[in-house]
Amino acid sequence: MARPVTEEATVVADRLARTQAALRSTGAVALLAGVGADLRYLTGYSAHALERLTLLVLPATGAATLVVPRLEAMAAEACPAAVAGLVDLVAWDETDDPYALVAGRLSDAGASGAARLLVDPGLPARHLLALERVLPGRAFGLATDATRALRIVKDAGEIELLRRAARAADRVVAQIAAGRLIGRTEADVSREVRERLVAEGHEAASFAIVGSGPNSASPHHDPGARVIRPGDPIVLDIGGTLSGYGSDITRMLWVTGGDPSRGPSEEFLAVFDLVRRANEAATAAVRAGVGCAALDEVAREIIRAGGHGDAFIHRLGHGIGLDAHEEPYLVAGSAEVLEPGHAFSIEPGIYLAGRFGVRLEDIVVCAADGPDVLNRAPHDLMVVDG
Ligand code: ZN
Ligand code: ZN
Repeated sequence: MARPVTEEATVVADRLARTQAALRSTGAVALLAGVGADLRYLTGYSAHALERLTLLVLPATGAATLVVPRLEAMAAEACPAAVAGLVDLVAWDETDDPYALVAGRLSDAGASGAARLLVDPGLPARHLLALERVLPGRAFGLATDATRALRIVKDAGEIELLRRAARAADRVVAQIAAGRLIGRTEADVSREVRERLVAEGHEAASFAIVGSGPNSASPHHDPGARVIRPGDPIVLDIGGTLSGYGSDITRMLWVTGGDPSRGPSEEFLAVFDLVRRANEAATAAVRAGVGCAALDEVAREIIRAGGHGDAFIHRLGHGIGLDAHEEPYLVAGSAEVLEPGHAFSIEPGIYLAGRFGVRLEDIVVCAADGPDVLNRAPHDLMVVDG
């Protein structure tokens, strides 16, 4: 029976073929991908993370197998790679040994001997140890060796999803800034952010950092019981996934309660200006051929010159795609050079412990002609009555 060939199927067929070529060139005989970004990238299958084994077995040559628990088989059959016949679906029953099944598939595919097997970096230890038991003497490496070069360069479809996610997050920032804040706990505002991320088109919210007052100085503050009051700065760092692809934006608010005397101090405004200039200079420097370390230095030099070098306590940014944090990382010491299709955050920050913190974050794509900033929310400090 002829199978319908969808655009999604064409995309995953190309990814599977290129990954197999990468396996051959790295001398690995197969890639084993459990539930996570590699599996989704290669098959379109967004699987549930269970204690039961779900595993894509992709040999360097020949047919791929998707091993799934029986109760997940219907969902797996609907993924683009299965619909297009690009993977053999093998369902295992509750009393089967799925690891022995994987070993059998590898042996059928001629992927035996001593050559390396690559596993996805997120494969739970319980699965890896069980695979080592049924594949004694085999060397294991990380799937990143084969998938990194593919996943780091986003195609037009992926960039479009990242853009839609970014715009959805932009709208949530505007909605939160326009709403009531004073008298509410950070946790309450954080819950509202999560609801709005979904209402604006994300399938799930991933994080909703609301750091008010001195809590703004903790970059990954866990929103808690602190009640927002006039004179507070607020770090809003929010994101979710849309068709698997992440959003991640940080903007700064200042709540006055309508009292002009509770506005931001000169010192706060100077720190804010420094972070904004660092963000905008690094963004303007984005182009193919620029080093990730050099980009980090563009932002860091501005903050250092402003006297706050010690308070910029993290790298400039991280890649984003099917994983919220992935290659490339914009960090000192990186040998990575930007290429068209790289997508990453630019998020300089200054954190003054016990006092306040400031961060501004956008998702930027390195396009053929320079930066393509996916977020559209203005960088301005949003001074609101709250
Ligand atoms: Zn963020
Ligand atoms: Zn980020």
